[in-house]
Amino acid sequence: MLSRSSVGRFAVVSAADFLPEERTLDALRTAAAGCRGCDLWEPATQTVFSRGDTGARLMLVGEQPGDQEDLQGKPFVGPAGRVLVKALDEAGVDRDDAYVTNAVKHFKFTPRGNRRIHATPDASEAAACRPWLRAEIEVVAPELVVLLGATAAKTVYGSGFRVTKQRGAVMEWPTAGGPHALATIHPSAVLRADDRESAFAGLVADLRVAKEVLA
Ligand code: SF4
Repeated sequence: MLSRSSVGRFAVVSAADFLPEERTLDALRTAAAGCRGCDLWEPATQTVFSRGDTGARLMLVGEQPGDQEDLQGKPFVGPAGRVLVKALDEAGVDRDDAYVTNAVKHFKFTPRGNRRIHATPDASEAAACRPWLRAEIEVVAPELVVLLGATAAKTVYGSGFRVTKQRGAVMEWPTAGGPHALATIHPSAVLRADDRESAFAGLVADLRVAKEVLA
């Protein structure tokens, strides 16, 4: 489906139209700042691309930036980010070496008074943004990608993927030569859970599998 966005008189299909020829993280970050591959850029403050470097062995992929991430321009700096840091520490995963990004690079929200309420990106928005994640994987070349939540997992494995059923298992990348992958819940699910302790323990258990893979 074509985005309603347009550049000049040409309809824009996806982020693919904004990918730079030069494949370095700096070039990707600069180009992504001007992405208009779907309509999410317009109400958001800025593109929130990633944190980390080429050669990171572990890549963590979330859903999209939240309110704080949108304002600060960095991924996982809000409440969910704090849960993630705690879970990585408890699992013994070296978070300083991880590359952290999101499947969708702009904050999707519904305004309510002076608050901005998180809204889940739809399939067409996730698909429009997918070229950025593909390019990041090509440039960073991680050994393992941890997909945090349904949006990230479906971006890679398609709409039939169920995190609740397939979490915690080490999987082959859908295309040849790709990294290994592992899906788990998004850290924000811990904050929403009735039983936070058990949800957090589940996240840590999945991240321990990631640690074993990297060891
Ligand atoms: S969400 Fe992704 S595809 Fe859409 S404008 Fe932002 S960076 Fe581009």
